[in-house]
Amino acid sequence: MYNAKAYAAASATSPFASTRIARRDPTEHDVQIEILFCGICHSDLHLVRGEWSGLMPAVYPCIPGHEIVGRVTKVGSAVTKFKRGDLAGVGCMVDSDGTCPECQAGLEQFCPNMILTYNSPDKHLGGVTYGGYSDSIVVDERFVLRVPSNLNLAGTAPLLCAGITTYSPMRRWGVSKGKKVGVVGLGGLGHMGVKFARAFGAHVVVFTTSPNKKEDALRLGADEVVVSRNANEMQKHAASFDFILDAVSADHDVNAYLQLLRRDGILTLVGAPAKPLAVVAFGLILGRKSLSGSLIGGIPETQEMLDFCGAHNITADVEVIPIQKLNEAYERLLKSDVKYRFSIDMASLKST
Ligand code: NAP
Ligand code: ZN
Repeated sequence: MYNAKAYAAASATSPFASTRIARRDPTEHDVQIEILFCGICHSDLHLVRGEWSGLMPAVYPCIPGHEIVGRVTKVGSAVTKFKRGDLAGVGCMVDSDGTCPECQAGLEQFCPNMILTYNSPDKHLGGVTYGGYSDSIVVDERFVLRVPSNLNLAGTAPLLCAGITTYSPMRRWGVSKGKKVGVVGLGGLGHMGVKFARAFGAHVVVFTTSPNKKEDALRLGADEVVVSRNANEMQKHAASFDFILDAVSADHDVNAYLQLLRRDGILTLVGAPAKPLAVVAFGLILGRKSLSGSLIGGIPETQEMLDFCGAHNITADVEVIPIQKLNEAYERLLKSDVKYRFSIDMASLKST
């Protein structure tokens, strides 16, 4: 074991503070990574503040962070994919059983024994896993991703969650040229959704509650922007969408989007507000529409997404912050005041 520096929350209401944690020495299949950047996902905030306590209670001290990029510092004797000095990425998962049908299908996120990067039982050290708000992490090589060398690293970190979470459902539902695609909520996930939908050739419409994000939405690749609180603007798009991705983190009315789908259209939720949604049955029945969900993506698809981003030069638009600004960043995230992902520069942890 060795000591790593980290930032932890001691309770749902405590601010983050500097701490030291134990990490395991790499075993034969492990990769040790010096973390260079870690994105801040709204899921980190939901979890650490106890908003998902019914489904997933947080264990304190809690160290979130699942959008990790860094450099390999050590590998175990049986590791084949990585060597010291390589760039590496880690997303939301660090382990799974590897034998169940989900794992065999490359959908490790649905494995009943999947281990999350933070707040899951740690089979090596006991307690729970600790995430990327830290200067290093040790992960089984099966869950370490190759990072294209041409991409900006601060903007690459968010691909490990916001990227794959938007890429996967768009691939699954055939977002492509000739399709009209909506993205609801221009946050960390939403802005990646816009970039991918654009790269796949779709006609992209952004729905936002923030009129001041209009110009950015167009710059990020949207063809049209709708301020969703304006009923007239919404009505103009009635019954016209093939696919809508809902990436909203807070309580909102999904019926307003169901009525924008054409026959057989699909509304996929990736946003995970704490409160249950109310759905009007006729909103689905009329037009034979589908409401679905999607959870990150499996390891093979995450690698495919990173390679796609390397080939198309796609990264997140980030505000790079020192870790000392973590508490402030959380408050701004709650106000939808980030363009469009915070990425923590872990060099700032050296001075703590
Ligand atoms: P984020 O950066 O905070 O973005 C959320 C966006 O939702 C905001 O920028 C805002 O966009 C919109 N929004 C916020 N409050 C709203 C309200 N009251 N009514 C309508 N719109 C509102 O969050 P994120 O990191 O992208 O995460 C989004 C959600 O996805 C979270 O719930 C997170 O837990 C979840 N998530 C799910 C997965 C998965 O695998 N399914 C993975 C990661 C995250 P506008 O300003 O444009 O309106
Ligand atoms: Zn996330």
